[in-house]
Amino acid sequence: MIEVQHLTKAYGNQIAVEDLSFTIPNGQIYGLLGPNGAGKSTTMNILTGCLAATEGEVHIDGYDIFEDAEKAKSRIGYLPEQPPLYLDCTPREYLTFVARAKKVPEREISMHILDIMEKTGVEDVADRLMKNLSKGYKQRVGIAQALVGDPEIIILDEPTSGLDPQQIIEIRDLIRDLGTDHTIILSSHILSEVENLCDNVMIISRGRLMACDSPANLAEMFRGTTTIRLIVDGDGETVQKILEGVDGLTGIETAPEKEGRTAVRIDSDSRDSDEISKNVFFAFSQAGTPVLQMTMDHVDLEDVFVELTDQESLDETKTSNSNSETEEEELS
Ligand code: ADP
Ligand code: MG
Repeated sequence: MIEVQHLTKAYGNQIAVEDLSFTIPNGQIYGLLGPNGAGKSTTMNILTGCLAATEGEVHIDGYDIFEDAEKAKSRIGYLPEQPPLYLDCTPREYLTFVARAKKVPEREISMHILDIMEKTGVEDVADRLMKNLSKGYKQRVGIAQALVGDPEIIILDEPTSGLDPQQIIEIRDLIRDLGTDHTIILSSHILSEVENLCDNVMIISRGRLMACDSPANLAEMFRGTTTIRLIVDGDGETVQKILEGVDGLTGIETAPEKEGRTAVRIDSDSRDSDEISKNVFFAFSQAGTPVLQMTMDHVDLEDVFVELTDQESLDETKTSNSNSETEEEELS
């Protein structure tokens, strides 16, 4: 279990993470979602004991990451944004080195590494120099080094960033697989990444935690803003009069269409969008005014993400990360 309380990190006078508090139970996959510069890597570097906090506390299975670093760290495997790979050695040599650094007993090392290489699908390239491996394989080796020492918690910073669409699918499958017997936190600035993979999503923007819930609950939470669009066979005044009698509508806009028809946009803060659309339908029906078209805008996690992270930082994501955005488009 990971407990974070009032975590703040300032670089000079710039605050990267501000008053972050959350608890992550064992056995789940958590996604840390936020645009570039939101503070994801900073948070992960602190959780894994690689970076000191300015304020706040982090406990891993009850151990303080700053006071009891060795015990806390032994429970965590970490794949940083820039994996620390030694390109002039082979995965087997590299993982052996990592195992020694993590104090895996010498006689267990070769079996342990074999096991991890099998899990992460790197046996085939075990004895090739890492500089000759594809980005996908390098990333697998990066994940493999996080698994050395059998930590319960695996923290992965943008694990699919820079990979091609096929590699992204393979790494996602691997993470899903690892999720069956590990607690996983992964970060991403791409919504579909965490939506598909994670039990819970923490949305972070400008160093602050904006929301934390399951993808479905987050979408449900923001269903408050249901929008219904209609084309009505009648004039604007008639439409206004009919809708005045319907409860739960927060905004009504009308615009004339051709042949005496009216285009209508209705906003409601009701969570029950079916109920609202029924009420609207019956109100027109009772007034004898035909509704020619009716469409509903459903809020999904994308809308929540956009709403919770401000436009400025989203724009930054688009310009500075055009690469990964393109990959995402190719996938969907
Ligand atoms: P993310 O991983 O979500 O893209 P980061 O945690 O890398 O975000 O960065 C959060 C903020 O902190 C950004 O504004 C970034 O510029 C700043 N930052 C990150 N690392 C440093 C550093 N070593 N020195 C100064 N500022 C930093
Ligand atoms: Mg980052």
